[in-house]
Amino acid sequence: MQYQCNECSATYKISALRYKCDCGSPLNLQKNASRRHERDVSIMSLWRYREALPISTGTEIITLGEGMTPLILLDSTGNSKHYVKLDYLCPTGSYKDRGASVLLTHLKALGVKEVVEDSSGNAGAAIAAYSARADIRCTIYCPESTSKGKLKQISAYGADLKLIPGNRMATTEAVKQAAENTYYASHNWHPFFLEGTKTLASEITEQLEGNVPAHVICPVGFGSIYLGLYLGFQELHEAGVIDRVPRLLGVQPETCCPIYNAYRDKTPTISRMPQTGQTLAEGITAELPIRGEMILEAIHWTNGAFTTVDDADIKAGMKTLANKGLYVEPTSAVVIKGYEKFKEAGIIRDEDVVVSILTGIGLKASSVP
Ligand SMILES: [Zn+2]
Repeated sequence: MQYQCNECSATYKISALRYKCDCGSPLNLQKNASRRHERDVSIMSLWRYREALPISTGTEIITLGEGMTPLILLDSTGNSKHYVKLDYLCPTGSYKDRGASVLLTHLKALGVKEVVEDSSGNAGAAIAAYSARADIRCTIYCPESTSKGKLKQISAYGADLKLIPGNRMATTEAVKQAAENTYYASHNWHPFFLEGTKTLASEITEQLEGNVPAHVICPVGFGSIYLGLYLGFQELHEAGVIDRVPRLLGVQPETCCPIYNAYRDKTPTISRMPQTGQTLAEGITAELPIRGEMILEAIHWTNGAFTTVDDADIKAGMKTLANKGLYVEPTSAVVIKGYEKFKEAGIIRDEDVVVSILTGIGLKASSVP
């Protein structure tokens, strides 16, 4: 197995300590048709799908029991069913544990001793926790405005926390210098992170007993769930496990929605959209996603769609979910208004089965109004 560049097709060994191509573009793992999609039901974590992951036999697995989160019915009328996947119940309180477990397993096997990462909070907490588990030193860069609960959590795992003034983009700029000397365990750049998030597709398929939902809705910033779902469902389809793929529906905050803009205007590339104002959805404020080309490919390939929400929508979404016993962070709550908007637009039809991903727990964002 090798890495291959999206842009220039250069290839690299996966043992190489790199996170991007020499040309500056993101790397993907070359497709491996021989990967099996059988599960080991005795393992109650995402590692039950290990056969589909690029980790060789005998490797020490860095795990905290992530994955196998509940999939519950939120609403149903007639044949229409809206399920929510409670991925905020992963060990650090967000779905990012999926990517962190697979990425840190890979880095530990390569002998990496120290990593840096930049994050809006949840990925930082996940990388910090799994680094602690792997006995790897870790420094996390976060925007100064990150929820206090997330910052406290990152420090609690023993990571060195660097707070950067300004928006999410400023944090990305700040980590670049550190990444010149220390391995950059970036959840947005590293292809192994997506290998972890792709297990969401296997779990949804298993939990719905092979009945593929018509749509999966998720919040999208840099796209680490959206692309994970894309990879996962694509592989399951190619392996003949499922006979069709769900339409992947993304939701962005209207103050930072470069992917939505490209979708709406049908442009061939995604252009940077400087954030036009604050949003409660701190986890999905990416002015320019790194894997833009792959996101557009995922929209095209799954007949996907995008929409946007504002802060009032997010607050209403949190309330709707809390009234049903689900306490999530604002970023996760975008899926509720997103569902309504996709329904109004005729994308979700009356009889459709839909799964929305609830990405982050409410507890660490409790200071948010
Ligand atoms: Zn390249």
